[in-house]
Amino acid sequence: MFILIFFFPCAANADDSGLLWLVNRKNSLPANFRPSDLVNFQGTELRAPARDAFSEMKTAMEADGIRGLKLQSAYRAYSYQRAVFNERVRMIETKGINRSAAEAIAARSIQAEGASEHQLGLALDVSIDGKLSQSFAETDAGRWIAENCHKFGFIIRYPEAKTYVTKIIYEPWHLRYVGIPHAQIMYETTLTLEEYHVFLAKIPMYIVWEEDFYFLVMYKNSPPENADAEIFGISATKQGENAGYIVTLKKPALQR
Ligand SMILES: [Zn+2]
Repeated sequence: MFILIFFFPCAANADDSGLLWLVNRKNSLPANFRPSDLVNFQGTELRAPARDAFSEMKTAMEADGIRGLKLQSAYRAYSYQRAVFNERVRMIETKGINRSAAEAIAARSIQAEGASEHQLGLALDVSIDGKLSQSFAETDAGRWIAENCHKFGFIIRYPEAKTYVTKIIYEPWHLRYVGIPHAQIMYETTLTLEEYHVFLAKIPMYIVWEEDFYFLVMYKNSPPENADAEIFGISATKQGENAGYIVTLKKPALQR
């Protein structure tokens, strides 16, 4: 058997892309967190890899005859999210519901400040008619997105069948960029991001075969110490301490 190993004795970059960071009520972002590679795009801001993937996806969608996909919202600052959340709570309170109950109701469809992955610049709300509604899933665009977005590195972050995991209502319009091959694996396994981290931590590795190469995805308790030319990506599972690391290698399919 012929095995190629590329090894360089320099320290791997322990920092990561943050592509697989889990952000939710239990894992919130600090008020001062703002991604360093935000770019302006169609009246909003988002991280460059998410913008590129969105453009590619939209082009492919149009090639299939579906036009008019709009990017409604992407990056949202902590302070903006707080204002949006508080406004929703206030609306619910006007129906005679007390503050804590109103907050709980609001949190099913809008995340409080710090708990929204829109703050990562990797979450995209898309629509065809300017509205964010569950009926999007029944449109040609919504169906196309559900079937194809993983090919471009996106997942439908809050699926209909997984509200018990995400604690968020079904949002067919909310896409999260996690990159390739993770979006593909989550699509195949029907796992949410919460479940994906747990799943990877329990198995030795996950392999995704492509034409001339394969991806090998592994969970590590600490980032790899040596840079390996086959490292395709490293992402912590969350921001801050006590994170795990998801390491993705891309290998030529010689041993197949
Ligand atoms: Zn959203």
